[in-house]
Amino acid sequence: MELDEAVRDTNVQMCYSCGKCTLACPLTHDDHIYSPRRIVETILAHGEEGISPAEMWECLTCNACSTYCPSDVKFPAFVREIRGELVKDGSYGECSHAGILHSLMRLMAGGQVKQKRLEWLDDSLETSPRSNVLLFVGCAPYYDAVLSEHGSHTETTKSAVKLLNSIGIKPRLLKDEVCCGHDMLWTGETETFEDLERINTERINKSKVKKIIFTCPECYDTFKENYKDLREDIELHHLAQFLGDRIDDLEFKENGKKVTFQDSCRLGRFQGIYEPPRDLLLAVPGLELVEMEDNRKKSVCCGTSCWMNCDQESKRIQVERLEEASTIADMMITACPKCLIHYRCAMDGQSKLDTDVKDLFVMLAESLEP
Ligand code: SF4
Ligand code: SF4
Ligand code: SF4
Repeated sequence: MELDEAVRDTNVQMCYSCGKCTLACPLTHDDHIYSPRRIVETILAHGEEGISPAEMWECLTCNACSTYCPSDVKFPAFVREIRGELVKDGSYGECSHAGILHSLMRLMAGGQVKQKRLEWLDDSLETSPRSNVLLFVGCAPYYDAVLSEHGSHTETTKSAVKLLNSIGIKPRLLKDEVCCGHDMLWTGETETFEDLERINTERINKSKVKKIIFTCPECYDTFKENYKDLREDIELHHLAQFLGDRIDDLEFKENGKKVTFQDSCRLGRFQGIYEPPRDLLLAVPGLELVEMEDNRKKSVCCGTSCWMNCDQESKRIQVERLEEASTIADMMITACPKCLIHYRCAMDGQSKLDTDVKDLFVMLAESLEP
């Protein structure tokens, strides 16, 4: 295992045991201590012998620890590197949903799957194969196929097209787009990630696309931080940021809801995009935005990542967050499809939770003036 390299590249050797990371970690609470400080200390003291695979798979890679680390220890990146080595040794995390989403990602990486990726498009939505603005759809069509009990996720994509149309943009869509590879990268399946990266890169690079817009923060973060060969003249934007810069071009009708915003880890702590989604919500007349106590960089992860290790800890984190949202707002808004799915799932059987969870772009598209 290339442990020394992982330690050096992620500043792990700079740890001075202050414990701020453990205090920030959402997995740590009264009955359960998950301590990145102790994990780092143990690995520094004992090398490979000090690695606990179970602890490596339990981390949510949410970046709360690194946000508060005074020594710039990049713990989630360290976990990602170690997971890559664990996978080489045949150790995997526990997949949710019998691993079907991971299997789909591997199939897409093979490049031979004939997809029906654009079946959600309808006549009310305007797209153009010649546009130089690409809307990267992500895995929403697969979420609809596999997780339909938690609502429609192509609704988000339809809303994105509607919002872009309202400011005069007919985006291009790729019928042979594949998964961005985020989950494969963060679960240590590096070769599968590289295959997905290569397929998307080749297809996009040979087009005349100049801008790519993402509705999913994980796709955006992955393209921005991990795609190495994308044409350099292509601009990357998350839709919240893109629309936030054109707020004066959007016309919304009255909406009397009281909402709170859930910052996702990749959009917030990873990419620092906190204000544009809030600015967009505040542009809707009558809409009231209230904040949960832990917001922006202090926001709490949605409790499970990469369709892995979804357990009682995940449910505790999700239900606590929903309880807080329900005491202050009619609705929790998120700009991440996975937050949306996990919170909606956690609401099942929680009749005391008097709240709803909605995607930012669905909310905005519903509020557009006709
Ligand atoms: S916050 Fe940083 S320096 Fe402090 S214990 Fe955690 S990893 Fe070490
Ligand atoms: S990335 Fe999140 S879950 Fe993992 S150790 Fe850091 S704070 Fe805890
Ligand atoms: S919280 Fe998310 S990962 Fe866990 S069971 Fe529900 S949908 Fe699946």
